[in-house]
Amino acid sequence: MSDLTVAENGPDPLLDALQRWALAVLGPDRHTRGHTSIILLCALMYAICCGAAAHSAAVGMMLPIGPTLLTAVTFPAHLTFYILVRSGVTRHWRDPGLMVLQNLYALLAISFAYVTLGPSERGMVLVLIALVIVFGMYTHTPRLSVIHGVLAMVLLGAAMGVLSSVDPGYYPPELELLRFGVMLGSLPALIFTAYLISSWRNRLSSQRRELKQALDQVQQLATRDALTGLYNRRHIQEKLAYAAQRYKRYGERFTVALIDLDHFKRINDAHGHQVGDQALMAFASAASMVLRDTDTLARWGGEEFLFLMPNTSPQKATIALDRVRDALVSIVVSEVAPQLRLRFSAGLALHQGDEGTEGTLERADQALYQAKSEGRHRSVVAAGRETDG
Ligand code: GH3
Ligand code: MG
Ligand code: MG
Repeated sequence: MSDLTVAENGPDPLLDALQRWALAVLGPDRHTRGHTSIILLCALMYAICCGAAAHSAAVGMMLPIGPTLLTAVTFPAHLTFYILVRSGVTRHWRDPGLMVLQNLYALLAISFAYVTLGPSERGMVLVLIALVIVFGMYTHTPRLSVIHGVLAMVLLGAAMGVLSSVDPGYYPPELELLRFGVMLGSLPALIFTAYLISSWRNRLSSQRRELKQALDQVQQLATRDALTGLYNRRHIQEKLAYAAQRYKRYGERFTVALIDLDHFKRINDAHGHQVGDQALMAFASAASMVLRDTDTLARWGGEEFLFLMPNTSPQKATIALDRVRDALVSIVVSEVAPQLRLRFSAGLALHQGDEGTEGTLERADQALYQAKSEGRHRSVVAAGRETDG
């Protein structure tokens, strides 16, 4: 329905142009776009602050050097951050979004604003410091959050102390002491909160990683055979059902080959169960190496295996199985029995439209039975209406 709508109306050119423009400015991938958005947003906030600083200087609430220096340094600094992140230079750095640098810059800029603001206005700078600490708790490690918070207090505390003794007229000591007290009473609590929140964030993300690993492991256990590492019977049955669906929808033919190792019981009896296991693993790795990426090999059970070969005729599948036979000639299964070589028989069937996967497997099994009864170490293609594809 939606495909039809797009085909009839065509894509919206305005939306398309906007999207291309946003990608060009912000970056091609989700992570880069996240980082560049933050840098551009901060640049916008600095632009507003620089405007406010220019106004403050114009009305005599700030030293003229304040807006001049802030504007002269802030924009080249943010342009550099933006270019480094957008170009992908920082992609493999420990801090690809340059959050630590941006935070440090913010602390320096705020301290500078504190120094240049008039005696009765500079108190509001403490709110901006709090903002920087809050930002940091969502991006920094717990340790960095504390370091940045303490650095902010040290920078401001030093400015208050030094300036009130050098120029007590512009930096009245009693007011600076009051502000120092307010800072000492409020920022440590905020720094502690930042530490707790970034610790929780850290713990959450490591739990998420562990969950993902556990899920991968469960998936591995559910779909793989423990001995050979091949797909298990349940998984190949799902793949078979999927291949049958694709055949119905797109007409993609596929061939199934049931394989049974010849006289496998003798291997167990003569050399022991462990060598038997090694033989199963040797077959799995030989067959996996010879097969194409699109083919699937699974352990069907015991010493039986199943190949699923999409877009392959039984004739081509027979050639592939001959390659596996050739590979097995040179493979030493076990040091315990260096002369031992593996052989197998195979029954192949091309999936046909009017049968389910059960029918195809049934015909492959009959062909395998025929291969065994005709003397083993061979492949037999099941009879069907069509055998080439
Ligand atoms: P044929 O050529 O007719 O297939 O003879 P065969 O001996 O291979 O067949 P049979 O069905 O008589 O024996 C299969 C043997 O495979 C019996 C069973 O113990 C052994 N087997 C099945 N699974 C495993 C396994 O995981 N490890 C080992 N070592 N042996 C296994
Ligand atoms: Mg068997
Ligand atoms: Mg066998």
